[in-house]
Amino acid sequence: MFALIQAGGAGTRLKDITGDLPKPMVPIAGKPILQWQVESLARSGVYSIVIVCPKNSTAIQDHFKDGSAYGVKIQYIVEEEPLGTGGALFYAAKIIKGDFLLLFGDLMLDVDFERFYKFHKRNNAIITTFAHPNSHPYDSDVLVTGAENKVIHVLGKKEPREDFYENLTNAGLYVVSSMLLDTFVGMDEPIKIDFEKELLAPSVAVGGVFAYRSSEYVKDCGTPDRYEAVGRDTVNGVVASRNLSHPQKAIFLDRDGVLNVFGNFVTHHDMLKLKPDAGPALKRINESQYLAICITNQPVVARGETSLEMLREIHFKLEDLLGEQGAYLNDLYFCPHHPDAGYPGEVPELKIDCDCRKPKIGMLLQAKRDYNIDLSASWFVGDTHQDVQTGINAGCRTILITSGDPEPAKKYAEAKPDYVCADLAAAVDIILGLQA
Ligand SMILES: [Zn+2]
Repeated sequence: MFALIQAGGAGTRLKDITGDLPKPMVPIAGKPILQWQVESLARSGVYSIVIVCPKNSTAIQDHFKDGSAYGVKIQYIVEEEPLGTGGALFYAAKIIKGDFLLLFGDLMLDVDFERFYKFHKRNNAIITTFAHPNSHPYDSDVLVTGAENKVIHVLGKKEPREDFYENLTNAGLYVVSSMLLDTFVGMDEPIKIDFEKELLAPSVAVGGVFAYRSSEYVKDCGTPDRYEAVGRDTVNGVVASRNLSHPQKAIFLDRDGVLNVFGNFVTHHDMLKLKPDAGPALKRINESQYLAICITNQPVVARGETSLEMLREIHFKLEDLLGEQGAYLNDLYFCPHHPDAGYPGEVPELKIDCDCRKPKIGMLLQAKRDYNIDLSASWFVGDTHQDVQTGINAGCRTILITSGDPEPAKKYAEAKPDYVCADLAAAVDIILGLQA
């Protein structure tokens, strides 16, 4: 497979650091960002690389030459005129065969590209966008997705947001189907093209764009603060360890009583109130080597007390409230089922003895598949012994917190947690303290 790296854009805000260097040549822990990208591609078996270079500098060509020193073959496109984020596809169409990866050269990343491409093929997508929650969704473009991760709208950061929205942002990294290059075959001359507006948006409109949700490290270093943070993460090994070809560690979190204030059953988003320690504690998880994944039983759906649509709203509100505090969940899994029939208004097809209702571990097994999680290196934090039993069943270590459900031992009272503490903040102290 080919990769096309867009390294032609001019960086401005890093002028003090970059000097005359093109932004993708800025060093992170001793190597240019672009070299980190090339090495990550090579590790995934992507050896044919095309780099779009700026006209006024040969720094990129001088550094990489034909790529053989990095185990890859590199070809260059030099834009005579700036062609926007997509115009170089005119030249790329003459070189690239088949589906390809499109990367922006100012992103620090370490990604299992093979896994990313498999997702693209499975969905038969025109474009697959690498998507992740971030710590500032309120000032990011966010993806609005429907069934099977299909992107139905890209909500621009300047568009008004009246509803709650998913914390799922577009990282600027794509798999593009070869059919998109066919557009350029009949063209005589290149034209300026904005990739997002002129290629991504129309593909969304015809239902051809899918969001690949990943916890891997992809961050831009476009400001001095971010540049410093990315350098730190690289030196600490966070960038490399998040690559999904390596087993991941997770902290699984129950929802009611751990993240939001316990109050029997939340059936409307108005009823959801965040616990005061939840945002800051989650933020500390986000900055650690652990993934943060919420695992919740929501039998209220099966019992007909709320709908799947409302549950979606409730979870978007949870993400928005956490996002305001710079915190995010890598993912959230819920079980809408309930085994006992006999409630007025119940949904018969959800009244089943499923494999996901805690203390069964179906949701954890799904998360394990989605994020290559090593359950034995992971934790379960909940406010009931049912949560503790779930963690034990999955082979995780467990923490029971005491500021949630006032009757934590209604079920599975015999399940013994490894630790008991007040709240999520204290649980994070315990887990990260053991790491130190
Ligand atoms: Zn279930």
